[in-house]
Amino acid sequence: MFDVLIVGAGAGGLSAALQLARSNRSVLVFDRGKQRTLWAHKFENYLGFLDGISGKDLLEIGRKQAQAFGATIIQAEVSSVAKTGDGNFKVAAGDQSYFGKRIILATGVKDNMPQITGVMNFMGITVAHCLDCDGYEFINKRAVVFGAGNGAADGALRILSFTQQVFIATNGEALSMNEKYRQKLQENGIEIIENNIAELQGTNHRLEKVTFVDGSEREADFGYSTSGSKPHNELALSLGVETLPNGHILVNKDMETSEPNVYAVGDIINSSQQVSLAVAQGVRAAIMLNKTLLAENQTIKR
Ligand SMILES: Cc1cc2nc3c(=O)[nH]c(=O)nc-3n(C[C@H](O)[C@H](O)[C@H](O)COP(=O)(O)OP(=O)(O)OC[C@H]3O[C@@H](n4cnc5c(N)ncnc54)[C@H](O)[C@@H]3O)c2cc1C
Repeated sequence: MFDVLIVGAGAGGLSAALQLARSNRSVLVFDRGKQRTLWAHKFENYLGFLDGISGKDLLEIGRKQAQAFGATIIQAEVSSVAKTGDGNFKVAAGDQSYFGKRIILATGVKDNMPQITGVMNFMGITVAHCLDCDGYEFINKRAVVFGAGNGAADGALRILSFTQQVFIATNGEALSMNEKYRQKLQENGIEIIENNIAELQGTNHRLEKVTFVDGSEREADFGYSTSGSKPHNELALSLGVETLPNGHILVNKDMETSEPNVYAVGDIINSSQQVSLAVAQGVRAAIMLNKTLLAENQTIKR
């Protein structure tokens, strides 16, 4: 029996694991890989790293740090989570079952990719998902926003605080942005190109232009995808945890979900998805969860 089971070894799960291990708790972390944290080319808005830090390096250090204090991390997909009769949790991964007194869901989200030929050559480097993360990169660049809805209009208007050169490419999708947004785009001279995109072109992951099926092309240095993401909330739903209309898990200020002893941290709870928030929430969940174990006289593991 572990004190805490954590599903997900991204920034949120590892941060919780580190804090719990340093509270002398037995911690088992499951991860099936493909963390969003890993995908980030460089975090430049994460305090303490003057030259930024890649997601890969952050995870490698985070794993070593949590393991150094006794957390166990295994590469495994959790297929189910259930409450046991005595108020604990049973997690199935592979052909094994594991038991814990508390559970933290740090399962993250999956990004939806724009259906555009060549986009993956640039994704995460010169095509961004998040303006709070990468808006700075658009300064004085030629920007293209991919999408046809309110998100695309909102993104294009936000990008105006970084550059005046921005257009929207809907890739043949019917415009679905509301009238207020359309008017604002017009007022700000933001062009909307509704042609189908043939492909994105560039070298060394640097976007250079968008070509359209009608043979026209537009130069662009930076793109912004508004395709959104899908929360990995299946385990939460199976536990009866309450979610928001967008599928993210609802938590209180202590990172507790609607189900007792089930906590959630990171992108799975956040609409503003930031590595610093995931890390902070991991610490918060760990501290508050540890207090609940102490209150039950669940003291020492070793
Ligand atoms: C391209 C890109 C650039 C970014 N740039 C920035 C930036 O500059 N600054 C910034 O602050 N943020 C940035 N972000 C956002 C930041 O990366 C995330 O907010 C943060 O990494 C989320 O961490 P997490 O732990 O919540 O999720 P993740 O890192 O996604 O970890 C969740 C893990 O849970 C695992 N998992 C899910 N279900 C299961 C299961 N059933 N069994 C086992 N494992 C499971 C997943 O496989 C995954 O490994 C960026 C994101 C992307 C995609």
